[in-house]
Amino acid sequence: MTALHDLSVAQLAAKLRAKDVSATETAQHFLARARAHASLCTFVAIDEEVTLRQAAAADVRLAKGTAIGTGGGTGGGTAGSLEGVPIAHKDIFATKDFLTTAGSRMLEGYRSPFNSTIVSKLEGQGIITLGKLNCDEFAMGSSNENSAVAPVGHTAPTPVKNPWDITRIPGGSSGGSAAAVAARLTPAATGTDTGGSIRQPASFCGITGIKPTYGRASRYGMVAFASSLDQAGPMARTAEDCALLLSAMCGPDLDRDSTSLDVAAEDYTRSLNDSIEGLRIGVPKEFFGEGLSADVRTAVDAALNEYEKLGAKLVPVSLPRTELSIPVYYIIAPAEASSNLSRFDGVKFGHRAEKYIDLADMYKKTRAEGFGDEVKRRIMIGAYVLSHGYYDAYYLQAQKIRRMIADDFQQAFTECDVIAGPVAPTVAWKIGEKSDDPVANYLADIFTLPASLAGLPGMSLPAGFGAGHMPVGMQLIGNYLQEARLLNVAHRFQQATDWHVRKPEGF
Ligand code: GLN
Repeated sequence: MTALHDLSVAQLAAKLRAKDVSATETAQHFLARARAHASLCTFVAIDEEVTLRQAAAADVRLAKGTAIGTGGGTGGGTAGSLEGVPIAHKDIFATKDFLTTAGSRMLEGYRSPFNSTIVSKLEGQGIITLGKLNCDEFAMGSSNENSAVAPVGHTAPTPVKNPWDITRIPGGSSGGSAAAVAARLTPAATGTDTGGSIRQPASFCGITGIKPTYGRASRYGMVAFASSLDQAGPMARTAEDCALLLSAMCGPDLDRDSTSLDVAAEDYTRSLNDSIEGLRIGVPKEFFGEGLSADVRTAVDAALNEYEKLGAKLVPVSLPRTELSIPVYYIIAPAEASSNLSRFDGVKFGHRAEKYIDLADMYKKTRAEGFGDEVKRRIMIGAYVLSHGYYDAYYLQAQKIRRMIADDFQQAFTECDVIAGPVAPTVAWKIGEKSDDPVANYLADIFTLPASLAGLPGMSLPAGFGAGHMPVGMQLIGNYLQEARLLNVAHRFQQATDWHVRKPEGF
């Protein structure tokens, strides 16, 4: 019999519905695994009592046959109730029942009085919350080394380990989410993606993750980093599981998120099995240039060949401003961050310095103590590019190029249906290897930033292994609101390959 932790969300949900296993047993099993593998440093908050209370309530509903929810959307696909399925949340989502730290000292001990829309929606489908997962401070980073929070079972901040090789980073900023899913400590997790933070850690840990179209999932209750880019999405082992969870996460939240799209929720499982015969896959030449390491290229090329075998056609396309996405993103994201983070002033919530002389001194000391180096770096860059005299030269210029990057995608989509390429130029690097070199981290975001800047949906799916037997992810990018198509294209690949079922040794 397959162990509970090796079941997909879809399989687990079916077993719960059939009463082969209870929500309580399932939650206990995963909580025990999370504790047993505390050395991976994935969880930053666990509260057995809360989780088991939720599970007991789900069991009552399952017993009465009154399970809530259908996985979102209008039904008709494989979506059944997700009642009793446990998942864990990136610690950037506000939760009433668990502390919310966003990986920062600034929010040490902070408890939100409300749940983020994503958490409410998932719990509203009967999903159980296992706890909160480690992330880079305010989601700024690509390695999860920027977290200032001590993981469960630790007394000091300790980097998350990649379960495929514990000397390597899991990616970031949703590194705790990716590592926990890969190590089977949770069947799935939430993540957020501002410039690649769902796709890159998914790629580095050999799991599947999707960032929907900007505005598709509500940002209400997500600790803000760069508001014109931030999006939530699911991280799981299969495209089918991502479809189930994304269906439950999306939909309008117009009163609470001013950038929420007024587009009804969909059931993304309905089209998972659609044929991809004749699908035009755009292959941008800029994604396969010098910067791409040979091992990643080999794996992605093999995956593209597999798509040809499945009946798709590869079409060369161009995204000529790919390289510019790095300077553009690293102007716009810090600009928005510097503004968003101004709320952490020691007054409203979070950390306040103990000793200070006057108000200005209190602000200074609070912020100096509460923020880590990377966050301070971004606040300084952001304040600089927005300042009088530099605004036109940097911020405005970056906005203009952002528009051109979005236009380049529209040009490409006249020739293809989806775009495919690598997620990151290399496999996961060693812990500490780039921690003193912020620019080296920024450069590694090159293939995820363009879709973020354009607001397009993008996903990562396991496509093989590279150097050090580390997972390699393939990226799929779709046009606006084409999440169903992306998940379908990924699902067909996963039916023909077994990369997504491989698991790291010892888990
Ligand atoms: N690595 C990118 C950054 O540090 C992206 C982070 C994210 O998507 N949250 O900004």
